[in-house]
Amino acid sequence: MATCRICRGIYPQEHFITGNGPRHLVCEGCGVEQGYVTADETSHLYDEATSRARMVVVGRRFSPFLWLILGWVLWALYFAGLPLWGNASLVILLLTTLAVPVMYFLGGAKYQADIRRLSTK
Ligand SMILES: [Zn+2]
Repeated sequence: MATCRICRGIYPQEHFITGNGPRHLVCEGCGVEQGYVTADETSHLYDEATSRARMVVVGRRFSPFLWLILGWVLWALYFAGLPLWGNASLVILLLTTLAVPVMYFLGGAKYQADIRRLSTK
């Protein structure tokens, strides 16, 4: 771990650009900002499109759980008291609750592959 001269951020050694003089102890983010290196030369900084794509992949992996929680909250608030709609939506919610973890585990390999693809340049 070392401290960046410019932003005072503390990063592992491999997040620093190499060199002497002005390039000494400068993190990759500041190195790009100051023009010491180009974004292509850094190994830990992702360009905007790549970080957006990573966010999408991570979001797709975990958002079903959020929707599930939201579904149960809505059901408890509005549907639990309705005899017909309450039972029908309860069955749908239960099926979804069973399906989401299964889909989560089935999607694990694809998620790993997507993240790996987006981690290399
Ligand atoms: Zn810095």
